[in-house]
Amino acid sequence: MKLEACAWTDPGPVRDNNEDSYHLDEDNGLFIVADGMGGHAAGEEASRLAVKTLRELLTGEQSDPDETRLDRQVGDPGDALRERLRYAMNQASARVRKESLENLAFAGMGTTVAVLLIEGGQAHVAHVGDSRVYLFRDGMLARLTRDHTVVQQEIDAGRLTPELARTVPHRNYLTQSVGYHGPVEPDTLTRAIEPGDVFLLCSDGVTDPLDDARIATLAREVDAPDLAERLVRDALDRGGEDNITAVVVRISHG
Ligand code: CA
Repeated sequence: MKLEACAWTDPGPVRDNNEDSYHLDEDNGLFIVADGMGGHAAGEEASRLAVKTLRELLTGEQSDPDETRLDRQVGDPGDALRERLRYAMNQASARVRKESLENLAFAGMGTTVAVLLIEGGQAHVAHVGDSRVYLFRDGMLARLTRDHTVVQQEIDAGRLTPELARTVPHRNYLTQSVGYHGPVEPDTLTRAIEPGDVFLLCSDGVTDPLDDARIATLAREVDAPDLAERLVRDALDRGGEDNITAVVVRISHG
């Protein structure tokens, strides 16, 4: 199967910098969106450094003896890959945290990370924070990630409806983030891929102004190569003020 990916990002109308980072690697099937936070240059640095660390660890740019040992310990390939993703996320978190402790300008920085790794006919997903991964298949949109946010916990506990959660002031408070919280517990999952699948990775700059119904409508109307740009433009049109980033990956025959 063949992968085709596109990405679009915009700083939005309010901020003068873009703290989102993304990575597209069709050859290795690796796609990442990270949404950094912290003062001044810190958010940019957190997301950049997390993406760089994941890229190095997951594409073999930098071999790691511990990781090789992990691969040998685990039998099932899907288990091994998800373990690799969890390991890489924790390495990224340690590296961002180390830099935040060593450099005052970067104190307290952190970042969300959403990763999609396509390998062996399967999609492996890992995330920390509220950047999301969606799968659009057969006209239906499925959210593959569950936000690590206070409001998601309140929704799960039945204290808040998803509709109300979109409007409360604390909707962006994270329960964990890469770098800020030290060790992290990413959620991971594996799905078999099919021709026609379209995956979307995005920062909350997309999902704050656009609900899932709107994202699904655009996914039905817009061809995958144009979808990332269209989502970002639609988020801007609907009042998005944050940095906005979308990465779209289409699976096809070939
Ligand atoms: Ca954001």
